[in-house]
Amino acid sequence: MKLYEIKRNFISKKIIENSLNNKKISHSYIITGEENSPKEILAELFAKGILCKGESSPCDACLSCKKFDGNNHPDFSKIKVIDGKASISIEQIRNVLKEAYLKPNESDKRVYIIYDAHLMTEQAQNALLKFFEEPPFFSVIILVAKDVNLLLETIKSRALIINAEPEEDISYSIKNEYSLDYLDRFSDKNEAECLDIILDNIKSSEDFVDFLSDLKILLRDICVFKNVNSPNLMTGKNKELQISQISYKITDIQSQKLMEICDDFILRIYEYANLKLSLCAFNAKCWEEIR
Ligand SMILES: [Zn+2]
Repeated sequence: MKLYEIKRNFISKKIIENSLNNKKISHSYIITGEENSPKEILAELFAKGILCKGESSPCDACLSCKKFDGNNHPDFSKIKVIDGKASISIEQIRNVLKEAYLKPNESDKRVYIIYDAHLMTEQAQNALLKFFEEPPFFSVIILVAKDVNLLLETIKSRALIINAEPEEDISYSIKNEYSLDYLDRFSDKNEAECLDIILDNIKSSEDFVDFLSDLKILLRDICVFKNVNSPNLMTGKNKELQISQISYKITDIQSQKLMEICDDFILRIYEYANLKLSLCAFNAKCWEEIR
């Protein structure tokens, strides 16, 4: 699975991508979300990316990624509730700590994922606190928890928290039809019409966020169509035909770039003096990428 195959979770994906691209990895993360959120998948893609030796992490092609996929990476460990038990014990955490302070075998880092971390006993959490207080620079612990409030305050306050939102309710089509029109005109390289479409339709910051989210869903579908050609994985169920037509006119790299621009604008939407300025800036930025 690739990060872009996760349909929503734009902000959590952005945090993970930025950390991997800038090689700024903290020593501890908590990825939290309800039962139907992709928190485990996000944690695993993150772990794989941290260990990856390729250019775009995770690259899926390097030896490290292959070992990760084969479940035999010597610098990666999964900690789970043992079958028949109800919690993660202090012994399990002590075993992690014994190893976490030893240099990695072949990667720059050792990575641990603790699944259902909210099921750690209080003693286990207190044992883990030693790591959170004095982490070795080469080890990373990712806690996956359904409710962050079930963790000790001392643990919570020392980790970077990433929220995963449910993906289930998104088998809907896009919110606004003009988002598809925009992409269609864009792929036909009609800059003036593109600007008209957004200036005519987007009347508030909320409209703009909806539009950016629509665009991300469509661009993601285009990537899925180009790479795996599987309509089942596409979100815009009733838009397959238009999406496939657009996908022939936009490259994979352009789609990825446009998704990044959407992410940037979602995060910085209030930085512009007014809506019209931000729409013009958005349109100009997109066109820079396609020229
Ligand atoms: Zn790799």
